[in-house]
This record gives sequence, C-alpha cells and structure tokens, in this order.
Amino acid sequence: MSTATVLSRASAGLQAPEVRVEVHLSPGLPGFTIVGLPESTVREARERVRSALITSYFEWPDHRITVSLAPAEIRKGGGRFDLPIALGLLTASGQLTPQATANRECYGELGLDGSLRPTAGMLAAVQAATAQQRVCALPATGANTLAQLPGSRLIAAPDLLTLCAELKSKTPAVLSGSSLPDQSGSYPDFCDIQGQVAAKRALEIAASGGHHLLMTGPPGAGKTLLASAMPSILPTCTPQALLEQWLIRDVLGLEPTWCRPFRAPHHSATGAALIGGGANAHPGEVSLAHQGILFLDELPEFSPRVLDLLRQPMEQGTVTIARARGANTYPARFQLIAAMNPCPCGNAGQQEPPCRCSSELVSRYQNRVSGPLMDRIDIHIGLERQQTAALLTHQAQGEHSAAIKARVASSWQRQWDRQGCLNAHLDARALLLHCSLETPVRQWFEDACDRLQLSARSVHRTLKVARTLADLAEAAVVGENHLLEGLSYRPRPHDK
Ligand SMILES: [Zn+2]
Repeated sequence: MSTATVLSRASAGLQAPEVRVEVHLSPGLPGFTIVGLPESTVREARERVRSALITSYFEWPDHRITVSLAPAEIRKGGGRFDLPIALGLLTASGQLTPQATANRECYGELGLDGSLRPTAGMLAAVQAATAQQRVCALPATGANTLAQLPGSRLIAAPDLLTLCAELKSKTPAVLSGSSLPDQSGSYPDFCDIQGQVAAKRALEIAASGGHHLLMTGPPGAGKTLLASAMPSILPTCTPQALLEQWLIRDVLGLEPTWCRPFRAPHHSATGAALIGGGANAHPGEVSLAHQGILFLDELPEFSPRVLDLLRQPMEQGTVTIARARGANTYPARFQLIAAMNPCPCGNAGQQEPPCRCSSELVSRYQNRVSGPLMDRIDIHIGLERQQTAALLTHQAQGEHSAAIKARVASSWQRQWDRQGCLNAHLDARALLLHCSLETPVRQWFEDACDRLQLSARSVHRTLKVARTLADLAEAAVVGENHLLEGLSYRPRPHDK
C-alpha cells in the first residue's frame, strides 16, 4: 500500500476541527513535502519524524513522500501532527496495518528518540473525538488527567514503539473516562474576617446576583482579604462549568483546578494578558476567571486603555480575539471585584492620618477609571480602616462561609427557575418583566431617581440589585426597602 490516512485535529481556540493526515509514497527521487497550510513548526515535523522512526527501529521509506493535511484552509501549528504523520508513513510503507489506526484519532509531538510529548489544547481534541465515539491515541504524559473527561477512551504510551505495539494489539489498554473529580479549593472563610459587616453583606448580595462590585477604602481596610474570601460563598460549580474552565486552561497548557477560579492580575498587566491575545489568540485573565472572580486591586493604577477592554466581556460574558491567523472566541463570564484607594495617599475620608492630596490630584486619580466602566459596576461600597482596638478585642465570630453559600445557592436557584440567568445578566426587557413594581413603590422610586439624577443605566443597575435583595429575602415582589438598599450601592457623586 502506498497511501494511508490517519485522523487528527487542529487547535483553534476551544475548537478542534478534524484534520485528515494523508501520506502518499511514490517512486522517484527521495524527498518529503507537506502541503495544506502548515506553519513552520509543522514543516519541521520531517526531521523529528525521521529521527523518531529510525531510533524506534522502523524503516524510513526511501520514496518520494507527500503529506497532505486536509482540509487545506485550516491553519495547522504545533507539533501535534508528528504522531499522525509517523503513523501514516508506517501504514503507507506496510510497517503497520490500516486497522491499527482505523476509527482512531492521533495527536502528539515526537522527540528525536521516539518519545511522545503532549501539546497544549489536547482536551478540546479529545472532547470532539469522544463526541464522535472515537478512541484517541496520545502521549502518556497528561493522559490520566485527560481520561477524567466523561466518556473518553484513550490509548496512551510514552513512546512511538510502545504505542504501535498497543495499536497492533487486539486488546489494547484503554483508559476510560468516568466522571469529573470532586471540587476542591481553599479560600479564606468569612468567619475569619473581623468586623466589616456592611462589606460582607455587599459581597453576599454581589455573589447572589452575579453583580460586579467596587470597594473603595484606605490601605489596611482588608479589601484583598474580603475579595479572596468571595469564592467561598459562591455555589458549587456544575460539571459543565468545570469542563469550560478546564478547556480554557488546557489551551494554555495549564492543569485543571476543579474549583471556582480566583484571578488577581497585577496592575501592570497588558491588554493581551488581561483580555487574551498573542500570535495564536490565546485566552487571557478574563477567561481564566470564567465562572469565578476577577479581582483588580488598585484599579486606577491599571492603564485606562486596558480597563476599557473589559467592557465587552463584562457585557457579553465572552471575548473575541481577532488576529491575522483568525479570530477565537472564549467564554469570560467572570464576576469583577475591584478595589481602589479613595485618593493617591489612601487617607481621604479618614481622620488620622490626614489626607495631603490636592482636590485636583484626587479627581485626576479617580478619573483614571472611566465613567462607562464605573457604570457597569452594580455595587459600590466604601470601607473604613479597622480600629486597632476592634482587631485586638475578641469579637463574636461572624457567620461561616458555608451558611452564606447556602443562602446564595438558593437565591441562584430562584433566579434560574424564574428567568434562566442571574439578575446581573438580565437585559433591559427581561428586567422590566421580572422586576415589575407596584404602583406606589414605582412612584416613589421614580421620584427618588429624579432627585438623585440617575442615568438610565444607573436606574437599571439599581433595579437589578433590588431584585437580588428581594430574592435573598425570598420575596416575590421588589419592595421599597430593597430599592432603598439598592440605591445605597450607587456611587456617590463625589466618588466619580
Ligand atoms: Zn490623599
């Protein structure tokens, strides 16, 4: 036989389009050509495959070799096609039977000594292959993790020679996927945070409705601790959510974490690091925080241009990164918890030590965060520095995170049953449908909004938070007390 076809998959963000690796041996001057839009890493496959075949005691076919990666319009990069090319060559030259690779998909980079190495983005390929009920042949490294994908069937080997023996065997050793592991993850517990009752209440509301939140307060007020405790009150992830996080991490070659993500990028982060980018349009922090918390400390220290990039994912829950090699879309349904000082020195609003910033400096500092971004944050709270005396005296312990988490979970359930999403993600029409007010309350709210000169967007944000407050209180209808508390979380005029 002088032709062979082996199935594999390319990597395009979270997608893994099928690629047919066709190998043709023809008489003529020995040579090696790869066609089908390969990048340079794939063109280098010739050297790796040749050495790997020879060091694995196979014969390098002394023919004119043509390798075609079809369909031609998909770009192919990375070393993942080494293995299917090697298996195609072995099949075409009669060193392996066609049955060995029939209805199987192969991915993996070859070392010069014939060893098999994993490449990033293999989970998306295994997931697509599993959906088509195919067995995957791949490197042993990382295979045990991939085998946690429900329904997957894998033939894994450390090197080419062992893999070929498995593929030829009538009863190959197949790793079978069972179910995703239990969730782990350790976060600070709310009961360990002294005082800050109002802030804890605001975080509970934010968690209940999926609202973005901004804390303003002096250094030492405990902003970072409060934010890092936030995942401990979020409901347990669904298997679907865990799978989405795993897919995103796998594109970057990271291990899965099996818990709500908490991402805290430094304020020097670039747009590409935060949103995603690079030559291959990789996901960024907003996608790594998908289904979890994105914590931006020192918000005004971030570049305003970088912060403006947050607007699309905050609104849509996805981010699209366009590059010359094509656009990738990643999920980015994160919850933003931001923190900032009230002024450059951090002491504005405190009695001791006094603030020494000029009013011009303070407003320039606060204006670094654009109005449109501020507008997209539902809950704004101010924190005060904890009094030393309060920290030293033994206070009655606050509520444990587990108890708050139970309330948040039942609030989520109410929202999902009613409208199929969290309150923060309601569009304007759905909001009016699910948050209708009784006439006197409506009249009162209209007056209040007029007096406070709230923008249309602010009115909607307040309604959403009020809806969450009603859900937390297990109330069917939004009342005046919910709206009043919702209004208290709007930014005060001098905050902006
Ligand atoms: Zn100051």
